[in-house]
Amino acid sequence: VDEPRPPAGLSDNHLLAALPARERGRVARHLEPVPLRVHEVLFRPGDTVSAVYFPTRGVLSVLMPTPEGRALEVGVIGREGLAGWPLALGSATTPLLTVVQCAGEALRLGAGAFRTELGRQGALHRLVQRYADVSVNMVLHLAVCGYYHPLEQRCCFRLLLAGDRSHSDQFPITQELLARTLGVRRTSVSAAARGLQAGGLIRYRRGRVHLLDRAGLEAASCPCYRTLRGKFDGLFT
Ligand SMILES: [Zn+2]
Repeated sequence: VDEPRPPAGLSDNHLLAALPARERGRVARHLEPVPLRVHEVLFRPGDTVSAVYFPTRGVLSVLMPTPEGRALEVGVIGREGLAGWPLALGSATTPLLTVVQCAGEALRLGAGAFRTELGRQGALHRLVQRYADVSVNMVLHLAVCGYYHPLEQRCCFRLLLAGDRSHSDQFPITQELLARTLGVRRTSVSAAARGLQAGGLIRYRRGRVHLLDRAGLEAASCPCYRTLRGKFDGLFT
């Protein structure tokens, strides 16, 4: 059971933390802390993006649904980023489903205030542009990955990504969600997870994953993880 923690602040989101003090102060006046409850939907396809969310803890999953009721995961967002970034590219609506994967908190910024701040062409504008670029890269990687890389390798990639976003080696993720995000049947995910468990790479119990051997998982992952991590590591440098 997670210990109760004090409410998160601005500095817990990396994009907000990277703003110069004056800009951060200006943005702070418009931020509203909101809880992120597991399975909560922040955006549905077709929704007008009325606000963006800067997670301070927790993990969001971004999915592209199909009319047949399936979905492919095209993004994972933690406290390094923000949800609703297409707004910065001029889109008022989103084709994507954004769901809370691990509970936490976010700072919500209304679309109007977000646009006004971006219009100043300051640090937030620069950071969000870079973040959007890296996020588009993630979409491309996850698409190619889903098409060409073996499931067990994709499982490692996906678990490492969730570990990075939740800043922990232990986090909740159900096999249903993992199967959904990987676009495969639950039985296939169970088999892959059993393989990783037998190899001593993870422990999976009651909907919680414990990454036991990060180096081993990285070695067992497809190259997508390393490539993408490099891009995210470069965001704030
Ligand atoms: Zn891959």
